Amino acid sequence: MKAPDFSYHDPRTLAELMGLLADLDDTKLLAGGQSLMPMLNLRLLAPEHVIDINRIPELAGIRIEGDMVEIGAMTRQADLLASHELALIAPIFRKAMAHVGHVQTRSRGTIGGSCCHLDPAAEQPALCALLDAEFDVIGPDGVRIVPAAEWFQGYLQSALDERELLRAIRFRSWPRGHGAGFEEYARRRGDFAIAGAAALLDTAADRSIRRAAIVLFGVEPSPVRLVKAEQMLLGRKLDHAAIEIAMDEARGLDAMSDAHVSTDYRLHLAGVVTQRALSRAGSLVEVPA
Ligand SMILES: Cc1cc2nc3c(=O)[nH]c(=O)nc-3n(C[C@H](O)[C@H](O)[C@H](O)COP(=O)(O)OP(=O)(O)OC[C@H]3O[C@@H](n4cnc5c(N)ncnc54)[C@H](O)[C@@H]3O)c2cc1C
Repeated sequence: MKAPDFSYHDPRTLAELMGLLADLDDTKLLAGGQSLMPMLNLRLLAPEHVIDINRIPELAGIRIEGDMVEIGAMTRQADLLASHELALIAPIFRKAMAHVGHVQTRSRGTIGGSCCHLDPAAEQPALCALLDAEFDVIGPDGVRIVPAAEWFQGYLQSALDERELLRAIRFRSWPRGHGAGFEEYARRRGDFAIAGAAALLDTAADRSIRRAAIVLFGVEPSPVRLVKAEQMLLGRKLDHAAIEIAMDEARGLDAMSDAHVSTDYRLHLAGVVTQRALSRAGSLVEVPA
């Protein structure tokens, strides 16, 4: 099928874009188009106006200053995968981005598009939840900063209002030497995950955990942090019993069922990917001298 008719707009500056968003009703922003175009072609959406945001250079790019990382919403997924600077300061990105779709989809798809579309199994929103990122949003009333804990409003639903633009995503990197683990299960390489997990660990010289973050995705409608396990791991070593704590919490989530798998099977996978991601993070921690 072909997309329904719409008026196409091609702003070249942020000011021009914000003017269009303020003036027009029933708009959709076009980023990489990897989710929007299929939805238009399948007639799941029929906006009157499509505003292409691909020609506004300031919306793209990875900026690192000290331990602060800012990623422009229009940064392509391929660039996140390729960035050595990002891989050094936040190694979880390179591990996760290799699982996002295919070379072709990553060359167009953007982190902002993924974080606005919010497929439950998408890796990039999960990384934002893992890293306690903040979302820099601009709209008719100016700029507002939305913490990750408030961004996820449910299935395919972000905290973004209709006339707002996600401008950038920011997070503070973890200390050098932290361990990062990523694991997902998908039917075929490049498919959306049926369940996935990512974990970050930082330990003291005696290997006791001083900070932990674990996120599950593809299990509930939005990425979910294992907050109880993260707390319970503090001060412990990452032994079998500690990993079991996280697996138990993962297996207790309110999992979705769909045409591919039952709730029970998804919960089983949630436990498995948690165990693998956490063990991997533990094995990669550089213990301080
Ligand atoms: C074959 C295939 C396989 C895929 N596999 C995966 C996968 O394994 N994992 C995964 O995570 N994704 C996967 N995707 C989806 C892909 O990552 C998309 O790129 C992503 O979901 C949307 O990003 P986009 O830049 O293409 O956004 P678009 O499709 O252009 O936009 C998506 C939505 O977000 C809105 N939007 C976009 N940018 C902004 C912004 N800055 N501010 C406000 N609203 C905005 C749009 O209006 C639209 O509603 C796959 C896609 C395909 C086609």
